[in-house]
Amino acid sequence: MTATLIKGTVIREEILEEITKEVAEIKEKHGVVPGLVTILVGANPASMSYVTLKIKTAHRVGFTEVQDSQPNDISEADLLALIDKYNNDESINGILVQLPLPKQIDEKKVLNAIDPDKDVDGFHPVNVGRLMIGGDEVKFPPCTPAGIQEMIVRAGVETKGAEVVVVGRSNIVGKPIANMMLQKGVGANSTVTVVHTGTKNLDAHCQRADILIVAAGVPDLVKPEWIKPGACVIDVGVNRVGEKISEKTGNKIAILKGDVDFDAAKEIAGSITPVPGGVGPMTITMLMANTLKSLKFKLGMI
Ligand code: NAD
Repeated sequence: MTATLIKGTVIREEILEEITKEVAEIKEKHGVVPGLVTILVGANPASMSYVTLKIKTAHRVGFTEVQDSQPNDISEADLLALIDKYNNDESINGILVQLPLPKQIDEKKVLNAIDPDKDVDGFHPVNVGRLMIGGDEVKFPPCTPAGIQEMIVRAGVETKGAEVVVVGRSNIVGKPIANMMLQKGVGANSTVTVVHTGTKNLDAHCQRADILIVAAGVPDLVKPEWIKPGACVIDVGVNRVGEKISEKTGNKIAILKGDVDFDAAKEIAGSITPVPGGVGPMTITMLMANTLKSLKFKLGMI
């Protein structure tokens, strides 16, 4: 069997088109567009390239984008005051603070200072609680898990009653996606098992999965014989395993590998996400979806 590829690059385009259309309609009817601010402290190259991509995507869908770059030696008090300013700014619907932050700043304190109704990353404890309760309580599902669920739905994979096995229990992927898949509702209603470094017989758990979601950060952790024939395999892992010269640009680029042995797994799975080009492109896409949602909440549209 050769699995169907679930391509994040294609699903991203569909969703960004939908967002662009909706932004134009809201602008026409209400005279406003979503406003997103990205606060970048210092000049970490990885953070800068991620922020650049967020800005580019925000512009593409018609948002107002504010990039607020702050020096690496900004004090915690000044950063908190900045967040307070954006919490009270009517034109801003989403606030992002790019991590990591420099040592003098308590990351937790900063993230918890963001108004939960503008926390489009979905990491504030209030939004984590809302996600846990589920249903109408949920405002901003965290972006990577939201992207994973969207991919499963758009690939037409049945989730109701499905055995979902999640490998990994991090706060940004494993725990929230497990929680989302067990809720009642579309794209969920599954029977969920979470496995991690304390789990015995990892292989036996994975072999039960109709939907296997792997977010461990270990290249090729999941072997082909762990996959149930026909299963949907979502590989969240992004592992740098070397470098190569890009054919396009001639520059050195990282060789990326997922947590699943892709070449062998695609002969067994029913559908599978590639790395790169699978879950990766979905995170910023869902950030845009959450920012639009934030404006819609404010306008009483949802
Ligand atoms: P993490 O290190 O915070 O958590 C990894 C989890 O996997 C842990 O809970 C651990 O218990 C489990 N784990 C690790 N090794 C294991 C093993 N041998 N057996 C069983 N369980 C094991 O990582 P994270 O932030 O959740 O990210 C996981 C992977 O997903 C990373 O490769 C990361 O780069 C990638 N990621 C991708 C995106 C994206 O594509 N947008 C977003 C977030 C994370």
